[in-house]
Amino acid sequence: MKSSNKILILGSIGLDTIETQYGKKESLLGGSATYATIAAGINGAAVPLGIVGDDFPSEGYDVFSKYSLNINNIEEQSGATFRWGGKYHDDGDGRDTLFTELGVFEKFQPLIKQSDSNVSWLFLANIHPAMQMSVLEQCTNNPVVIIDTMNLWIDTTPNELRMLLNKTNILLINESEIFELTESANVEVAVNKALSMGPEKIIVKFGSKGARYFSSNEDISIGVFPVLKAIDPTGAGDVFGGGFVSGLADGLSVYDSMKRGTALASFCIEDFGVTRLLSIEPDELEERIDSIN
Ligand code: AMP
Repeated sequence: MKSSNKILILGSIGLDTIETQYGKKESLLGGSATYATIAAGINGAAVPLGIVGDDFPSEGYDVFSKYSLNINNIEEQSGATFRWGGKYHDDGDGRDTLFTELGVFEKFQPLIKQSDSNVSWLFLANIHPAMQMSVLEQCTNNPVVIIDTMNLWIDTTPNELRMLLNKTNILLINESEIFELTESANVEVAVNKALSMGPEKIIVKFGSKGARYFSSNEDISIGVFPVLKAIDPTGAGDVFGGGFVSGLADGLSVYDSMKRGTALASFCIEDFGVTRLLSIEPDELEERIDSIN
């Protein structure tokens, strides 16, 4: 494994409007990099990379400052911060995107600060695959590359995504997304097809049913910590990813890293946005990690 535990995290940083059966909240701090940075930063050395507009609230900067090793790679441009709106179905799992306003992300050309380009761990959270590739190419120390993606990129930028998969060590992907990527409706078949696209390892996320890790010779399943009232599922996958990568960077096994990610994700969904993540006590995190198998 790599010696340094610094994790560079690329993804969206935004303001979310979220509607679930438990209510509606506007302009919540969100974005894939935000959720992943908080999760990774609880135990690890997270370095977020992204862009915000000049309307980004100071509370957002406070959160990043608290959970990051440095925030030098968060660029502020004049213009609007990325905004996303989603409405969840009453079954709690499905959701519809109501709007996506790219704002300053539209013309974002991510640039890693030279002092952070030698990271050993690179988490490319969900964002346009061309941006993910650009950041990957700027890394100078052959990092372990963990990527997440979404249906949008599988549909609209399949070639860019395929080029990225070819340079990926670990792919994190939802069940419905891997079915779409591989045009297959069977997990084992889909995983084998996806492994042949480049990633050495794949974690398939099954939402409230846990996750499963596959490599050429391993198959490791993990359950969930049962949350009775899932108030807002937004970001749970990014939090799982951030927690998982921070576990690997700390030298934990794949299984223990998955447990860390799973426990953190269970906190994420207990309240809107990042609210509950910000109040996790070390003891309660350990308790949840211990209870998962
Ligand atoms: P998840 O629930 O894991 O899909 O993550 C939700 C987060 O992803 C929200 O905070 C959104 O701001 C962010 N998001 C939604 N759509 C996109 C997109 N097209 N690109 C990047 N981030 C997005």
